[in-house]
Amino acid sequence: MIDASTRLICLIGDPVEHSISPLIHNAAFRLMELNYIYLAFRVKKEALNEAVRGLKSLGVMGFNVTIPHKIAIMEYLDEISEEAIGIGSVNTVVNHKGRLKGYNTDAQGALNALEDSGFEVRGSVVTILGAGGAGRAVAYGMLKRGASALYIINRTLERGLELANRLRQLFSRRIEALPFNLESLREAISHSKVLINCTPVGMYPNIDEIPIPPSLIRKDLIVMDVVYNPLKTRLLREAEKRGAKTVYGIGMLAHQAALAFKLWTGVEPPVNHMLRVAYSALRRGKGGGNAR
Ligand code: NAP
Repeated sequence: MIDASTRLICLIGDPVEHSISPLIHNAAFRLMELNYIYLAFRVKKEALNEAVRGLKSLGVMGFNVTIPHKIAIMEYLDEISEEAIGIGSVNTVVNHKGRLKGYNTDAQGALNALEDSGFEVRGSVVTILGAGGAGRAVAYGMLKRGASALYIINRTLERGLELANRLRQLFSRRIEALPFNLESLREAISHSKVLINCTPVGMYPNIDEIPIPPSLIRKDLIVMDVVYNPLKTRLLREAEKRGAKTVYGIGMLAHQAALAFKLWTGVEPPVNHMLRVAYSALRRGKGGGNAR
């Protein structure tokens, strides 16, 4: 029941109408009998500063941040975690007694999803497609967990090079940025144990698109797609056809939400329940392209 002591958590972004985060978090609050509510607010770019000041003075417990505010939010916070600084963006904010601290739960969310499926990142060579928000977080997470080398393949090579340069300053590992073409894909994937798609290629409604030629998928490759709508992208379907192991984007989605839940409430999150809620929301057709 919502009453005068109900605590508010929210999402700010633009757009937010397709987000399934309210469904995931409210289901978790109900299950754990926590008197919290999670709402989504559409905040225009020019209103971000004002919105953050408003949330702070209302004393919200925290909030999630999504496109287009994940980088811009950083200048309005009192503190930022080392990991969020390393990644270069914030997706979760916690109100610590009036001081707003930014975190990024995407990197650990991706790692948890991979490790949930029984895969060890330490010592592995990893290829990441994309150098946007998801790509940056996943790349950081893989190196932090001990990936031995990283290939970043991005459509705009400069953006990939920029990310590789930044990561080399943080991790002394072999980190290479390559252009998005057949030659680079062949070279990087042939040396890798793990391939992670961090581009929106294959995302609803373009469900027949695939970021790489299926013939590059080997049986001994682990293939992860951060795209979670559809649940099984064409990349994952082709990987399964070839006997490769697969990790679905919905796992990362549920894990990043669970990590944020823990940061706000201090309570151990019901991860499997959150995963089930996300599954059924997506099966019911909730969540357009960018459902975060
Ligand atoms: P973003 O910041 O806009 O970055 C998109 C990246 O994909 C860029 O590197 C871009 O390359 C590349 N790209 C876009 N279209 C491409 C194409 N047609 N061919 C090749 N590369 C292309 O987006 P994002 O926030 O990283 O999100 C990417 C995807 O991850 C979305 O589908 C999003 O829903 C999903 N995601 C999932 C989770 C999860 O929890 N599972 C979390 C975050 C994001 P350029 O640099 O050349 O533009």
